[in-house]
Amino acid sequence: MNLVRMLRAQAGRYRCAVCSRGMGDCEITVLAQQENRALVRVRCVRCHDENLLQIVLQTDDMPEELLADDKPPIAADEVLDLHQLLSSHTGDLVSLLSGRGREDGNTGA
Ligand SMILES: [Zn+2]
Repeated sequence: MNLVRMLRAQAGRYRCAVCSRGMGDCEITVLAQQENRALVRVRCVRCHDENLLQIVLQTDDMPEELLADDKPPIAADEVLDLHQLLSSHTGDLVSLLSGRGREDGNTGA
C-alpha cells in the first residue's frame, strides 16, 4: 500500500490554510501506522506549516467489527484539534481523513 502516494493525490486539491499554496507538493511523512489507521504529518513547502492528520483507511474486505476497533492506537489531543481544523475545509479529503469514525452526531439534521 502506498499511503503517501494516495494522500499526495488527494492533497493536490487543497491549499495550505496559512499561505494558500497548493498542497500537491507538500511533504508527507507517515509517523505511525497500525492496522487501518495512520498518523501522518503534512508540511507546507512554502511556509512550513505542519498539520498532523489521523487517517482511517477504508477497506472493503474487513469485517465491520475490525473497523470499529475498540483500542484506538492514535489518540492524541492535537490530532483531534487538527482534525477539527481540517473539517472546516470542504472536499473529498475531509471524508477520507475522517473515515468512518465520526462521532459528532452530524447525521441527526
Ligand atoms: Zn503554507
